[in-house]
Amino acid sequence: MADILEIQGLSKRYGSVQALDQLSINVPEGSIFGLLGPNGSGKTTTLGIVLDVINASAGSFQWFGQPMSKTTKRRIGALLETPNFYPYLTGEQNLRIASDVKRVDHSQVQRSLEMVGLANRKHDKFKGYSLGMKQRLAIGSALLGNPEVLVLDEPTNGLDPEGIAEVRALILDVAAQGKTIVLASHLLDEVEKVCTHMAVLRTGKLKAQGPVSSIMATNDLVFISGGAPL
Ligand code: ATP
Repeated sequence: MADILEIQGLSKRYGSVQALDQLSINVPEGSIFGLLGPNGSGKTTTLGIVLDVINASAGSFQWFGQPMSKTTKRRIGALLETPNFYPYLTGEQNLRIASDVKRVDHSQVQRSLEMVGLANRKHDKFKGYSLGMKQRLAIGSALLGNPEVLVLDEPTNGLDPEGIAEVRALILDVAAQGKTIVLASHLLDEVEKVCTHMAVLRTGKLKAQGPVSSIMATNDLVFISGGAPL
């Protein structure tokens, strides 16, 4: 497998806080890649840098073997925080608005709704959706434009058990359609259930990376379970 994302020696400092320290990560194409670490370990900062919304203090990264450009960005869909959907508009209307903002064709809306299993609920108002459906619509929004990679930051945070199960199943579905997924999570069991590969972060440093089964077998990840900053 070729690497779809290569990160080399990434560092980020916020004042006196060293958020990332010489991080090098390779994300294989076609993988569901878990970026696992406790709160404050640098997951969001890493995603922000590779999505070009945060500047790194040092280091570099390449998507598809290329530096970031407008064309590269179109190949990446991302959900970093919950989008503001209009409660009194339908799921379909909300995605139409999102597609205008993203400047992608309206034909993408139906494709996205189908991909996240909401085509049969597209005429329902957003406010009537369950938590899981709301988050699936958010993922549908990230999938507008049919990107090759989907980047998700803690996508099951704040959901009820049903919503968590729906979103995890959706991630597996989207990956089965040939997309690479990068998933930041502080939950070891989530990464274990959903991901094929993983990188483990602790206070901005890489502790381990590789296939999930081999990382689980060879590393003591007890510091993850409490989710406390370390
Ligand atoms: P969480 O799950 O809590 O979001 P995280 O693993 O995503 O954690 P980051 O949000 O990347 O971690 O934060 C890494 C470190 O950088 C933390 O110590 C955090 O307090 C700090 N940090 C993040 N953003 C800023 C900022 N804008 N200014 C100052 N410090 C920041």
